[in-house]
Amino acid sequence: MSLRDLSLDQATEGVDNENLVAILTHTGQLLKTTLAHICSECYNIIMKTNYSLLTEKVFDEIKEKQPKPKLLLQSCCGPCSSYVLKYLTDHFDIFVYYYNPNVYPAEEYAKRLDTQKQLLDAMPRENVIQLVECNYDHDEFLAVAKGYEDEKEGGARCAKCFMLRLEKTAQKAKEMGCDFFGTTLTVSPHKNAQVLNNIGLQLQQKYGVRFLPSDFKKKEGYKQSIELSKQYDLYRQEYCGCEFAMGHLKNE
Ligand code: SF4
Repeated sequence: MSLRDLSLDQATEGVDNENLVAILTHTGQLLKTTLAHICSECYNIIMKTNYSLLTEKVFDEIKEKQPKPKLLLQSCCGPCSSYVLKYLTDHFDIFVYYYNPNVYPAEEYAKRLDTQKQLLDAMPRENVIQLVECNYDHDEFLAVAKGYEDEKEGGARCAKCFMLRLEKTAQKAKEMGCDFFGTTLTVSPHKNAQVLNNIGLQLQQKYGVRFLPSDFKKKEGYKQSIELSKQYDLYRQEYCGCEFAMGHLKNE
């Protein structure tokens, strides 16, 4: 029988409390040393980082700053950004970057962009919330999705798609002199917040602009985005964006 097969009482039988505390402290130190030597991606997986808490730590850090820090926020669509903008607007001057070359076809892209504008026109605000438009070039997306067309939603194609959108956002944030960049994508329960935050943190290192960590679906963020979409009468799309996600939808 190995130590693992024993119950806690059996494993610690005869060990007095003082020794038990010493053993646990030593084990804790060993664990800390190990965690200090693994890469951030593995660390986040092991520790299941609470990115929602990290957003609030940033709020604490910047609460006295005047003028407010500038955030370039990549927005996937009006409905997802509705809650995120409401949540962030007290803390940042927000520039909404509608960079979504993944969306297909062009008519759908235009419809989602119009919905984004409809929301921005209707939302009450005291601070800056301003749209930053860009050109639609679906070929940019097709180039990164090549070879991953048959992946299911949530797989490797989506990670490529996130990287494309976040990297362009980081570049634009640097160009605009923003203090932070971030994304609305973590509000969706279908998007992996660990993957998105890992990508954001990699890009923070590459471009020297701070990434705003997030898991906006927490605190009922997703639910609130649905309620706000109803309140503002926003068009809510039925598929994520690309033609490959649309294909899976048709097959379901
Ligand atoms: S399913 Fe959505 S996230 Fe994934 S590649 Fe398509 S558009 Fe991008």
